[in-house]
Amino acid sequence: MDPLFDRARALDAADPLPTRREAFHVPKHEGVEQRYFCGNSLGLMPRSVREAIDIELDDWANLGVEAHFAGRNPWMPYHELLREPLARLVGAQPSEVVAMNSLTANLHLMMVSFYRPTAARPAILIEAGAFPSDRHAVASQIRFHGFNPDTDLIEIAPDAPGGTLSMQAFEQAFAAHGARIALALLPGVQYRTGQAFDLAALTRLAHAQGARIGIDLAHGAGNLVLNLHDDGPDFAVWCHYKYCNAGPGAVAGCFVHERHARTDLPRFAGWWGHDQSTRFRMGPEFVPTPGADGWQLSNPPIMALAPLRASLALFDQVGMSALRAKSLRLTGFLQECIEDRLNDVLEIITPIDPTQRGCQLSLRVRGGRERGRALFEHLAAQGVLGDWREPDVIRISPAPLYNTFEDIAGFVSSTAAWRKAA
Ligand SMILES: *Cc1c(COP(=O)(O)O)cnc(C)c1O
Repeated sequence: MDPLFDRARALDAADPLPTRREAFHVPKHEGVEQRYFCGNSLGLMPRSVREAIDIELDDWANLGVEAHFAGRNPWMPYHELLREPLARLVGAQPSEVVAMNSLTANLHLMMVSFYRPTAARPAILIEAGAFPSDRHAVASQIRFHGFNPDTDLIEIAPDAPGGTLSMQAFEQAFAAHGARIALALLPGVQYRTGQAFDLAALTRLAHAQGARIGIDLAHGAGNLVLNLHDDGPDFAVWCHYKYCNAGPGAVAGCFVHERHARTDLPRFAGWWGHDQSTRFRMGPEFVPTPGADGWQLSNPPIMALAPLRASLALFDQVGMSALRAKSLRLTGFLQECIEDRLNDVLEIITPIDPTQRGCQLSLRVRGGRERGRALFEHLAAQGVLGDWREPDVIRISPAPLYNTFEDIAGFVSSTAAWRKAA
C-alpha cells in the first residue's frame, strides 16, 4: 500500500473540521465507496433529503390543499424557510436572495431587468469560453433586443497560463469597450479552469464605466466564502445541484442587490412576485414585493425545495468559512501531491494562488487527448471519479463536506500506478 495513505489518514484524523461524509450517500464501486470528485457537477445526496421529501409527501397525502397552512412546514410561506440559509451561503441580506426556477431561467429574468441596451450602449461582456448556457442566454438576449452578437457580444480572451485571465485583461476590456457595455456577466469561479475572481474588483470596474454587472456563481456557491452584498454586483444567479448538494435540477438561487429592492425596474412578472399583503386579493395590477422575492413568477415546487432546505442545513451546521478553510487544506494537499509526484503526468491549469481558486483543480494531461482519456478511464475503473472536459482536461474537485485526504491519496496513488504501468 502506498505510504501516502498513512499520511492522508493522519491528516483526516487531525483535521479541525471532521468530515461530514457520513451525512451523505456515497456511491459504491465494486462494493467500496467511490472517491467522488464530481461535486462540481452533481453533489452527493445528503441522507436527510429522503425524510425531508417524505414529510411533504405525507402532508400532501394527509392534508391536501390545507397543507398550505396546516402542514408541518406550511407551503404558503415555504420559500421563506430558505431565505436566511441562502443569505448566509452567499453573504447577502435576507431580502436580497430567493430560491426559484433554474440558473439559466433566472439569468434570463435578471437580464430582462438589468440588460437594457441602447444604440450607444448595446454590448454584453463575458469571458471567452464561458459555459455554453450562459453564452446562449446572452447571445439570444442581444438578438431579442435587435442587436448583433457578432459585434455586441464582447468576449475577454484568456491572457494568462492555462487559459486563465489576469486582472489586467478585465481592466483593458473595460477601458477599451466600457462606454458600449450595458452588462458584464462574469463567473465567480470559471467552470473549466477553476479560476476564482475578485468580485468586488470586477464590480468596481463595471460600475466605473456605467455598466451593470451580474455574477454567475454556478461554481462559486457552496465553494467560496461570498460577500455579495458588500461586493455589490447588481445581481447573481447560481444552481444548487453542484456544490450545494440539493439534487439533479434543484431549484436555483438568485440575488438582487438591495439598491434595486424598491426600484420599478422593468421585469417579467408573475403572481408570486406580487406584494405579499395583497397577493390574494387577486387584483389586476402588479405591485412587486420589494427585494429579490419580487422576481418570483410562480408558487414554488415544494418537493424540490425540501432537498435544498435539507442540504443548506448542513452548510449552516458547519458554516462557510470553516468549510472554505478545510477546502483550502484539501485542495492544497492535492496540489502538493501532484507537484511532488505527478508533475510528468499532469499540469495544473487552475491558478496556484489559493485566493484565485475554489476547491477544483483542472488538470491537463500531458501527452494529449488520447493519453488523457486513457488516464480518465483508468481512474474510473478504480472507483476514482473526476470529470472530463474536452480536449484534455480532468477536473478534480474535493468537496470539503464529504471528500477526505484519503480520497485524494486514492486519486494520486491510482494516477501514479497508471503512469508506472504505461
Ligand atoms: C452548471 C452551469 C450552468 C447550468 O445551467 P442550468 O440552467 O442549471 O442547467 C450554467 N452556467 C454555468 C456557468 C454552469 O457552471
